[in-house]
Amino acid sequence: MRNVSIVLALLLLTLADARSQSQSSVSSRDPAMRVILLGTAAGPTFDAQRLGISTLVEAGSERLLFDAGRSLTTGMARMAINPSDVTKVFLTHLHSDHIISLPELYLFPWASQGRNVPLQVWGPNGTRRMFAHLQEAFAFDIRIRRDVDEKFSPDGIRVIATDIREGSVYESNGIRVTAFLVDHSPVTPAFGYRIDYQGRSIAISGDTKPSDNLVKFASGVDLLIHEVARPKQDPAFIGPPDELLPNSRQTRGRAKIIAEHHTDGVEAGRVFQRVKPKLALFSHFNVDPSATLRLVRQNYEGPVEFGEDLMTIDVGSAVSIRRFGTPNR
Ligand SMILES: [Zn+2]
Ligand SMILES: [Zn+2]
Repeated sequence: MRNVSIVLALLLLTLADARSQSQSSVSSRDPAMRVILLGTAAGPTFDAQRLGISTLVEAGSERLLFDAGRSLTTGMARMAINPSDVTKVFLTHLHSDHIISLPELYLFPWASQGRNVPLQVWGPNGTRRMFAHLQEAFAFDIRIRRDVDEKFSPDGIRVIATDIREGSVYESNGIRVTAFLVDHSPVTPAFGYRIDYQGRSIAISGDTKPSDNLVKFASGVDLLIHEVARPKQDPAFIGPPDELLPNSRQTRGRAKIIAEHHTDGVEAGRVFQRVKPKLALFSHFNVDPSATLRLVRQNYEGPVEFGEDLMTIDVGSAVSIRRFGTPNR
């Protein structure tokens, strides 16, 4: 009996110690915001390993999604994120690689996870129209499941879509989302977003060439998530424009046009030098990281990371990253 009491006392002490340790580690880390890179691939790719561009930002009770790239809900499932909890979506622009999973996010959580509140979407001109068409495209499924068969929540399949302009577009529970114009011409308008919460800040570039307006809005953020593409001076661009590039179905001419719509490593370094984020992180890329980093380093010495699918970034007194599969600290 005595032995049992000693074991019990030791067990209680161990539990109390474990709890105080976990509490102290939570308060010392105390991130104001958490970012999850659900997908980091650029463009309309077919890739068995990487998912399309989507970024989830969590702050307090808010969960905000930025862009909805390929296989978004697969990324959510891997991270044990219930997609019915993600009901607020901000689109940078309407290129298909940024929006292709919107139908998934719109329909599946309603029909399988019990979503009973409307999906809210903010995006450039054309967002409202796109959703009107999307509702029409899926009218059969919506009618059957809402009105005839399962009788799923009518509210859960509503969409509140807003065509935005530059400026503050969302404010709730202490979080503020500001849209700013970037330069992805001829794709106009295209936006980046800045998210502010509890004195911490994140900027997401969307797709853009080097943008003075981004530098203005993102200046001094804790975390800058920026796109990057192949170098504009890539020697592979020298030659007949109609020829296919090696290991590619893209002609040289088209690849050059695409590169012109984006930011390359040298240019990204100049942008980071002006923004001076605590951490600069690339997402939306299909370039070689080490070669690109060498280009960035021509102009910028600060901390730079390449995003990976399902990477978590905590933004608090420090900005720290955790790769998928590594344990929580
Ligand atoms: Zn893109
Ligand atoms: Zn684009």
